[in-house]
Amino acid sequence: MSPPDTTTLRQTLLDWYDAHARTLPWRAARGAVKRTDPYRVWLSEVMLQQTTVPHATPYFERFIARWPTVNDLAAVEDGDLMAAWAGLGYYARARNLKACARAVAGDHGGVFPDTEAGLLALPGVGAYTAAAVAAIAFDRPANVVDGNVERVVSRLFAVQTPLPAARPELKRLAGTLVADDRPGDWAQALMDLGSTVCRPKSPLCLMCPVSGFCAARAEGQPDLYPIKAAKAARPHRQGIAWVLRDGLGRVALVRRPDKGLLGGMVGLPTGDWREGEPDATPPVAADWVDAGAVEHVFTHFSLTLGVRVAQGSGDFLWTSEAEALSALPTVFAKALIRACG
Ligand code: SF4
Repeated sequence: MSPPDTTTLRQTLLDWYDAHARTLPWRAARGAVKRTDPYRVWLSEVMLQQTTVPHATPYFERFIARWPTVNDLAAVEDGDLMAAWAGLGYYARARNLKACARAVAGDHGGVFPDTEAGLLALPGVGAYTAAAVAAIAFDRPANVVDGNVERVVSRLFAVQTPLPAARPELKRLAGTLVADDRPGDWAQALMDLGSTVCRPKSPLCLMCPVSGFCAARAEGQPDLYPIKAAKAARPHRQGIAWVLRDGLGRVALVRRPDKGLLGGMVGLPTGDWREGEPDATPPVAADWVDAGAVEHVFTHFSLTLGVRVAQGSGDFLWTSEAEALSALPTVFAKALIRACG
């Protein structure tokens, strides 16, 4: 198939976007004169990395209600931020969020830089986020390539190289479609197409505005793209979470070290998580009772977390169970729910 006529392809997709753009809480209303607030774009893009729009939306709305400007977020206490972030995963991102907010508030007078290079110089802002904010908030012709865009481009061009090796090629091909005309809308149009029409499984090619330009569709099996390399098996680890209660209905929590998995978050006391036999050393001596186990999957390993329950005392962060459930990362919340029977 010959390369697509990019001018016609772009215009076709932008026309579709004008009629079908998703309504999202971080987007400016359709037809609005003012572009989207860069703070909202940045916050949403950080939240949306590795999580879905429905999952991120209530978090975004709570953050904006509580910290309506980047200056407000820059002043947040670490504990409040981590508690508000709990459940979004990838906690290093929450720490980067604060570092970036402080840099914008402290070094830029609370105003985000309006170029991709300026954004990239902010702490914790990677190439993708810089491109997304530059395009969506400032209408810069940046090449914004997330997982949705990779999938659409791999299909439009029927890219034969498997992921992840295909990434540079997909980025280059996506770049051939970027132009000075409405670059922010273009980035969002591609994302919307990938999210609502060019879905990972069963793409809705009959409804697709650019099906006439699509090499994968012409071949007949678009859902084979993007081609993926065979995955290495995810290692499995085991650990134990210790649910210690006092006589006042409170549960013992600990603050995890800043560095490492779930760094800086509160958690249940737990030993090392490792392959093979789990670390079974309790945090205090007590009559520990086995309450079963929960399963959790992290990016780089899966975990079986045994749950042990006892009454006792000690030097911990004693918290009501309701507060603990709202502050704990998902893996520990699962263990606490399991301890409640
Ligand atoms: Fe995706 Fe199908 Fe559209 Fe190609 S025709 S871009 S595979 S939805």
